[in-house]
Amino acid sequence: MDEFNTAVLNDHDLLLGGVVDLVAENQASARRWARMVELHRRHPDTDGNFSLSAASWVAADTSEAWAMGDQFARSQLNTALFLSRHLPEVWDLCLQGSLDRFRATTIADVIRKRLDDPADWMRVAAKIVPFLRKHVRRFAEFNIEVVNCTITQLRNKLNYETRVLAPADEEFVRRFADRSVAVWEDEDGTASLSISTSVDEARLAKHRLWLSAKAKRDAGDPRTVSQLMSDLALDLIIGRAEGLPVPNFARPIVNVTVSLETLAGLNDDPATLSGGTVIPADLARAIATKEGATWYRLLTDAQGEPVSLSTTSYTPTPPIWRYVVATRTTCSHEGCDRPAVECELDHDKPYPLGETSTENLNPLCRRHHRLKHARAERPDLHWEYDPVGAFLHTLRTAA
Ligand SMILES: [Zn+2]
Repeated sequence: MDEFNTAVLNDHDLLLGGVVDLVAENQASARRWARMVELHRRHPDTDGNFSLSAASWVAADTSEAWAMGDQFARSQLNTALFLSRHLPEVWDLCLQGSLDRFRATTIADVIRKRLDDPADWMRVAAKIVPFLRKHVRRFAEFNIEVVNCTITQLRNKLNYETRVLAPADEEFVRRFADRSVAVWEDEDGTASLSISTSVDEARLAKHRLWLSAKAKRDAGDPRTVSQLMSDLALDLIIGRAEGLPVPNFARPIVNVTVSLETLAGLNDDPATLSGGTVIPADLARAIATKEGATWYRLLTDAQGEPVSLSTTSYTPTPPIWRYVVATRTTCSHEGCDRPAVECELDHDKPYPLGETSTENLNPLCRRHHRLKHARAERPDLHWEYDPVGAFLHTLRTAA
């Protein structure tokens, strides 16, 4: 085998060689799955005194040969059988090396757990496959493609599409009835206190704590925002404090996007929170009727697409802010799941060259906003990969 010497590789080969490795890794996983499927096809269920199912034969043989636990081999086989039989296009993406084992397993697990009817599996597949294709990143130089949505994005999409067919309203009622407070004590003298409740209340509480903590920190408190959030919450519960300082500016953090039909009770399609979390129709309607809830209708054109908005000032107007966070629900950095309501709005083309409009503004979380400007400042340290397949600046070689 050739010696692998990273010291002689240039930046391009170090970085992009990793993508080639990734695809090879995905392909190897998928090929092991395909071997299991074929072994399963060849193995009969045996009867007699020592009867064994085909699945048990394959799990036993592969777990021995490939040094895996028997349970793991069995779950791998089940995933491979399900994907190859019922989701052929997802299966093909695995064999091409474009989709990794973890994402493919997530797809199979969510669909199998929620839905029993093979016709429903096909309905979900018809939504998931275009979603995966939309998230394919192509590396023309190597003629390879990789699905690069985050696991959270994928789970949100799977949740939405399976919840349209199997609404979670009853599950929500049952689990919400079990809401409680729990303490986990660690072995170093620390502990965690958790409150289970509905997702909108939890987000509201966290956001209020965050705003209050930030206000205290800005006023010179030496504790970090995280420490302050913990201290303020406990002060409040224990009754030590005069209460949370009320921040001047509180954005509507529980941002629900829901169809008019669901809101009116004409159907039970799920709704989504900022960040893509899927919530059942009943909860969306409950949030809508809560005291202090404000609903904004996005103006749409005849095709149902929101009508874009702009202003001449640097600061976006509230309708522009609402539009951007409703239509782009997460940080716009590839692979970031931070809810848009917690992000800053970045002028894609800098103001005043680019206008303050719904088209030129993108939500970026603090971290990725900084990263964008850091990269602009030091282009020599950043590989900008052109989707067409050419690098945008010259190669540097290893020192
Ligand atoms: Zn981000």
